Amino acid sequence: MHFTELGIDTRLETQLAHQGITSPTEIQSQAVPTAIAGHDVFAQSKTGSGKTLAFLLPAIHRVMKQRALSKRDPRVLIIAPTRELATQVFSQCRLLIAGTSISVVKVLGGENFNDQVKALRKDPQIVIGSPGRIADHLEQRSLQLSGLELLIFDEADRMLDLGFAPQLNLINEQANHRLRQTLLFSATLDHAQVEVTSRNLLRAPKKIILSDAHQQHGDIKQTLFFADHLDHKDALLKHFVTQDNVGQCIIFTATRNDTVRISELLNTLKIKAVALAGDLPQNKRLDIMDTFSRGLFKVLVTTDVASRGLDLLSVTHVINFDLPKQAEEYVHRIGRTGRAGFKGIAISLVGPKDWNSFVAIKNYLNDTLSFESVDGLEAKFKGFRPPKPKTTKSEKVKPAQPKAAKKPLRRKPTKPKKAIPAPFDIDGHAPLRRKPKPTEE
Ligand code: AMP
Repeated sequence: MHFTELGIDTRLETQLAHQGITSPTEIQSQAVPTAIAGHDVFAQSKTGSGKTLAFLLPAIHRVMKQRALSKRDPRVLIIAPTRELATQVFSQCRLLIAGTSISVVKVLGGENFNDQVKALRKDPQIVIGSPGRIADHLEQRSLQLSGLELLIFDEADRMLDLGFAPQLNLINEQANHRLRQTLLFSATLDHAQVEVTSRNLLRAPKKIILSDAHQQHGDIKQTLFFADHLDHKDALLKHFVTQDNVGQCIIFTATRNDTVRISELLNTLKIKAVALAGDLPQNKRLDIMDTFSRGLFKVLVTTDVASRGLDLLSVTHVINFDLPKQAEEYVHRIGRTGRAGFKGIAISLVGPKDWNSFVAIKNYLNDTLSFESVDGLEAKFKGFRPPKPKTTKSEKVKPAQPKAAKKPLRRKPTKPKKAIPAPFDIDGHAPLRRKPKPTEE
């Protein structure tokens, strides 16, 4: 199949050909014509399957072919959960609109607000941003969405996990008119909150579900290794990173401190490694991503900030030094390899502290994960047994008593008292007085 069969403008097809992209992937063949026909889309497709082009092509096609609803407001708004992912989408968009009069602006947290206001005053047709910063601009009225034609949510599930539901609702309300079209994409949309939120965001969407988020990714070989403690994990890590078949490798850790510690450890082995964590300034983060993508480092050690948005075909291995708490995050982390039809290897180290996460991931992936061991580096730890269900005292001794008949009420029922807030929440913490503002990753 060729891109022209999808109905996109020939200028787009030429731009794709310059990038060596000649035939659409499955998600593109299905989502592009559906979106061009004007339907809302709810699409789930595995990591690295070409989702970005699946929404960028119909978006740019629309800007090229149809008259704008408003000359001042952006026509397309694309929201992505992390700065890295938004930057990735922005770069692809810029390649596609090269040589046209279409303009795109990137609006991300951590970057200068006033510079963004100036860029937005130039009335770009396409805006790409992270939810928190887009909401800030809406509140300051430096961005208005009454003329918005196409609203796109990339990885909406992650935005909800990060606590951005209020910002997504604000964006939705400010662009809430009959002519708006909405597209929602991710590899993991089977998420209870996504179900609820998408009912608000989408109107009679066409569902395109090309992958089961719970199924193993066919291009990624996934193996797990038990580890007894930190030193054991370090020894396993050294073993894997020094194998001959490793091209570029991304290592995920639970803590920022470990990103630095492990990159230093690898540097002592003469392996070029760099640490990337969310607390670094935005320009430093982009700089690290850029040097890694240019192949100047063999290994990137990071936390979940890079679990979505890094699209490098040279990444042959992903190593989970620690397992992520959320099963969906595991799917996105390992999806940094095995992209665009290439094969990849995902290795996860499972110590006692990772056990609960492992159980959650195993259940999410329908029990398809398997353990292996390295000669000379076998672990004593083999997982914990599930706890036996407890029988309560009352179950043991008390036979069920028949219910006594209710006495009639003598006193007049009093007015119900105003509820007094409990001193602690269900999770045992003092209740929050105000909802905390989520921070962008
Ligand atoms: P994505 O899932 O959008 O992050 O894309 C994953 C990778 O596949 C990126 O490197 C894209 O450039 C590449 N890609 C997307 N569409 C195609 C296509 N139709 N043919 C070949 N490669 C593609």
